[in-house]
Amino acid sequence: MFDASGMTAVDTAAVHAGREDLAALGVHVPPIDFSTTNPLPSVAGGGDDYETLATGGTLPAGGSAVYQRLWNPTVARFETALAHLEGTAEAVAFASGMAALTAALLAATRDGKRHIVAVRPLYGGTDHVLATGLLGTEVTWARPDEVAVAVRPDTALVVVETPANPTLDLVDIAALAAAAGHAPLLVDNTVATPVLQQPARHGAALVLHSATKSIGGHGDVLAGVVACAPDWAARLRQVRAVTGAVLHPLGAYLLHRGLQTLPLRVRAQQAGAEKIAAWLSDHPAVARVHHPSVGDPAGLVGRQMSGPGSLLAFEVRGGAPAAAAVAGACRLITHAVSLGGVDTLIQHPASLTHRPVEGDAKPGGGLLRLSVGLEDPEDLRADLAQALAVL
Ligand SMILES: *Cc1c(COP(=O)(O)O)cnc(C)c1O
Repeated sequence: MFDASGMTAVDTAAVHAGREDLAALGVHVPPIDFSTTNPLPSVAGGGDDYETLATGGTLPAGGSAVYQRLWNPTVARFETALAHLEGTAEAVAFASGMAALTAALLAATRDGKRHIVAVRPLYGGTDHVLATGLLGTEVTWARPDEVAVAVRPDTALVVVETPANPTLDLVDIAALAAAAGHAPLLVDNTVATPVLQQPARHGAALVLHSATKSIGGHGDVLAGVVACAPDWAARLRQVRAVTGAVLHPLGAYLLHRGLQTLPLRVRAQQAGAEKIAAWLSDHPAVARVHHPSVGDPAGLVGRQMSGPGSLLAFEVRGGAPAAAAVAGACRLITHAVSLGGVDTLIQHPASLTHRPVEGDAKPGGGLLRLSVGLEDPEDLRADLAQALAVL
């Protein structure tokens, strides 16, 4: 008999969600709808559908999608599936994770509110957008225990990433949502994925993913998505329709397919990461390992997060030159940015993903980030052993 031990409702949703309309269409896998324009029922009917979609509404039953910047059925199926996994009513997909973040900031900063409270460390691109104020926002950086004091009447959003990239610090989402008070909380859930953590269940108003990472999982789609309640989704769709950072339907198809194996991939990659983290912790050339399996002071694994995840970081003795030597000496492991995919990647955050981060907030020179893939952990261990041997 099939043993379902360890499986959850997420496993079932991953396989089936967003496919509710397929049987009626007489197909088993989602069709890819490439149309950039769609026939209009009449001048008046087309106008009504345009008005609905351009102001953030969803496609009315029997209505026209009008134009791909406003609505696409293949993208909508992926959004439905992702919302199921995150436990939210809706989700809105974008051309990249940064496009999703941009839309969230634009949707949040209304009614004269443009102040953002942000908890570092954050992904370098997010840090950069907030630090430069490029989108007209003003940022206050705060530690989790400073958020309640940092929030002002004009605070539009509190932004946090947990686990944080690249230090894998964990933040208590429910405590942060309470500290945020009137201000909505955005949690970047890229590293955990909805398999391990569903921030909306702990009080997050907006759950953001770079779907480029684990959700796609195969390194071939650039995308972002925000899971949220219908009022936020309408605002995000309006921003998307107006600014145009839409997800291509082929990308949406690949992401929707990637979701079906997401739980299996995440758990297998996580098992490999736990082994590598334990092994690195005992290595004489390694000063410190960052992974919730070897450091979780607040006890959030098992409470907020069902497991430690597949991303880890480690500090080599000898600083930036030593880290560069190790990254350059990997053979099986690819020296490249990105994370969450089926193959293992190593990169140097201070030079690359977190290059724009200012001053003390920038990761240390000896820190390397490792995204563990689906290879045999023994082969990964052997590659890291020979790479660390160059020191
Ligand atoms: C990659 C990443 C982003 C940005 O996503 P893109 O798809 O590259 O635009 C945002 N947050 C985190 C945690 C990331 O890893």
